[in-house]
Amino acid sequence: MILIDGKKIAAELREELRQEVVGLKAKHSKIPGLTVILIGDMAPSQIYVRMKEKAANEVGLKSEVIRYPEAVEEKTVLDKINELNKDENISGILVQLPLPKHIDKQKVIETILPGKDVDGFHPMNVGNLSSGYESSVPCTPLGCYLMIKKIEPNLSGKKAVMIGRSNLNGKPMAQLLLKENCTVTITHSKTKDLKAECLEADIIVAAVGIPELVKADWVKKDAIVIDVGINKTENGIVGDVAFDEVSKVARALTPVPGGVGPMTIACLLKNTIECFKRSQK
Ligand code: NAD
Repeated sequence: MILIDGKKIAAELREELRQEVVGLKAKHSKIPGLTVILIGDMAPSQIYVRMKEKAANEVGLKSEVIRYPEAVEEKTVLDKINELNKDENISGILVQLPLPKHIDKQKVIETILPGKDVDGFHPMNVGNLSSGYESSVPCTPLGCYLMIKKIEPNLSGKKAVMIGRSNLNGKPMAQLLLKENCTVTITHSKTKDLKAECLEADIIVAAVGIPELVKADWVKKDAIVIDVGINKTENGIVGDVAFDEVSKVARALTPVPGGVGPMTIACLLKNTIECFKRSQK
């Protein structure tokens, strides 16, 4: 079984990006800039933002975090986004989710210029992705896609099953694999026989949020299994896939932690650089 080492693949990607930033700086006399807006003091968001900032600095991007207290008015945030939209030194804007209840998430997402939407959540980017046009692609599925391609460069005709249909994971993941000519099934909480669907799959991407949902007898021999789940349990952090048993049947599997997580952050940097390049065209 191939253990898909997300940490290592992400480090390689960051090194490629670092070199690319050097080239862009020489060519355009400026470097891509990422601005992250962080509202409130939720511990996981603080950690994610710190990791994103550190990774951005490591590849030589300009990065900035704008922090607001939990009670900040929605208008203050939207005004700031509009200001950043106009700032030519900012290539990418990310508003760390989740947001406090009084702030309309969709309004925030739609205020970010699609060309600076490094999360790929703006409806324009969602539409472009599903139409097969150039777009920002949500970081987590993009990271999963790059790992799958490392294992199997030719995905044409493969059967892929997404577990979970979120806008963040399942849906964009399905679009990426459809573009690769996979036959894609998106399953969700109302799917009748999830095990039977999974048993058909050459590729399984689990993004559910249920600890160790996917068992060994759900997985076809030699399937590629990508575990997006991050679940806190008594035994620590586990994924949506029962790692020990599935590792005995799968061809390749991502660990949790150390699989999808590091790739998500590296892909945020990739998206920032892509936004910069498109803005220079
Ligand atoms: P979500 O809650 O938005 O979506 C979960 C999906 O799972 C839904 O579409 C739901 O229909 C489906 N589902 C629920 N129960 C099911 C069942 N019994 N059978 C089949 N499908 C079922 O979650 P999300 O935001 O997509 O995140 C999913 C998981 O991925 C979470 O554990 C989250 O923490 C993790 N995550 C990890 C990363 C990363 O970088 N590694 C990034 C984002 C999310």
